[in-house]
Amino acid sequence: MMDIDEFRIFGKFAVDYIANYLESIRSRNVISDVNPGDIIKKLQEKMPENPEHWRDVIKDLDSIIVPGLTHWQSPHFHGYYPAANSYGSIVGELLSAGLNVLGFSWICSPACTELEVVVMDWLAKFLNLPQHFLHSSSGSGGGIIQGSASESILVAVLAAREQTVKRVKQEHPEWSESDIRGKLIAYSSDQSNSCVEKAGLLAAVPFKLLPTDKDCILRGDQLEEAMSKDLNNGLIPIICVANVGTTGTCAFDDVASLGPICNANNIWLHVDAAYAGAGFAVEEYSHLRNGLELADSLNFNLHKFLMVNFDCAAMWIRDANLVIDSFNVDRIYLKHQYEGLSKIPDFRHWQIPLGRRFRALKVWITLRTVGAQGIKDNIHKHMSLAERFENYVINDNRFEIFAKRALGLVCFRLKGDNDLNSNLIKKITENKKIYMVQGKYKNTNFLRFCVCGMDTKEKDIDFAWNEIQKQSVLVLQEADDLLNGNYMKDLHIKHDSEKHKIMLDSENTILSVDSN
Ligand SMILES: *Cc1c(COP(=O)(O)O)cnc(C)c1O
Repeated sequence: MMDIDEFRIFGKFAVDYIANYLESIRSRNVISDVNPGDIIKKLQEKMPENPEHWRDVIKDLDSIIVPGLTHWQSPHFHGYYPAANSYGSIVGELLSAGLNVLGFSWICSPACTELEVVVMDWLAKFLNLPQHFLHSSSGSGGGIIQGSASESILVAVLAAREQTVKRVKQEHPEWSESDIRGKLIAYSSDQSNSCVEKAGLLAAVPFKLLPTDKDCILRGDQLEEAMSKDLNNGLIPIICVANVGTTGTCAFDDVASLGPICNANNIWLHVDAAYAGAGFAVEEYSHLRNGLELADSLNFNLHKFLMVNFDCAAMWIRDANLVIDSFNVDRIYLKHQYEGLSKIPDFRHWQIPLGRRFRALKVWITLRTVGAQGIKDNIHKHMSLAERFENYVINDNRFEIFAKRALGLVCFRLKGDNDLNSNLIKKITENKKIYMVQGKYKNTNFLRFCVCGMDTKEKDIDFAWNEIQKQSVLVLQEADDLLNGNYMKDLHIKHDSEKHKIMLDSENTILSVDSN
């Protein structure tokens, strides 16, 4: 079995392995060559009876596991939203694994709780969040690190539910609790992440997904209309989940108009800023903070846009007592003499599981080794790379921008029908050079290009655009063949912009992309 000296060698080897992987990631196809079931077939059917040498395990890691990965840290990964990362964060994760403390109450590991209190306040200040979200404010608010946005939203829904049931029971003592629970209703938009609807299912509170406007935005009047109808029908609204940065197009709901309606009707306002929360930190997106002072809770995934590796989902709560009241289940073995001190939270009451990882460590190391300016620079880098990509799209008449560019996301499409766009994604995926996913809004398919990866550069954006062009030519030619040449004739293609020139021959095959 491995001893501590062997662990030293193994551990150092692993860090070198990670560094080599990240350093050479550009040279790999972003999508792997495996077919479903290939990896299961290659792995041993039974676990070994006796210890194997770690070098043999690494051999399999290298030959079976890594070739079967989709490389989220690749600069050619443009799907979904990013899986954020940084060297400091990776080491933080390693240290947290080594120290392996559980922080469900203060006594479990005081530094685990207190470091979390401190970094969550650092972050709240960095993101310019309202004062009431700080542990150090005069109220009972504060931040916690959850595992995911999904968990954060579920916690908010559960707290809103319990709070409402309690309030309505006081107002109508003659109503039975099950009657009240049967009438609860929650709101979000038709653009909300699937986890919002899932939170409703788990909490047994149906979500109404309200229609958004043409820009995918939910506004106050929409909520007011739906809510007054429901109130007239005897339903009891508990929460509205506003999306600041929808998953589809990164649209921003109008929190400033949703907030007053929620406040006036005693309903919880939760802001899901899983990706776009990073925008709160920079001047260009300061308008996203409008209305946050009315929010009861908010989530932002550091693991999407703040250089902290998965998993790390920050959640801030205006009045944590409302959550604690909903979740507080005590047992003698969990009691300790320092319980209930103000400003020293027992985070187990703020979350769904009992046990909790020491995630604050990687946050702290990231924030200290990158610094506030470094994080802002990284957000700006994503913004400017997305702008570079958008310019390519705008300057090519075959394409159209589908939704307003936001942070690192560009939504665009080939002009024409949905099949063209689905075929384009299919061809791009089959060629494995870059990875993107499709979106759909009111029956229109579009492509999402998100700046991801740990070290994405301008040349990677050019690489992606070149690949998209290549595959588009094939898609359009196929469509043209089907339509006997009518499609291409209608297109007036502009091949250059100030920043770059794309040379095509008469067949529309790309000869070169020249950037300067
Ligand atoms: C990614 C995303 C989520 C889900 O995040 P998890 O941490 O995986 O639960 C929720 N909402 C939005 C807007 C997202 O972009």
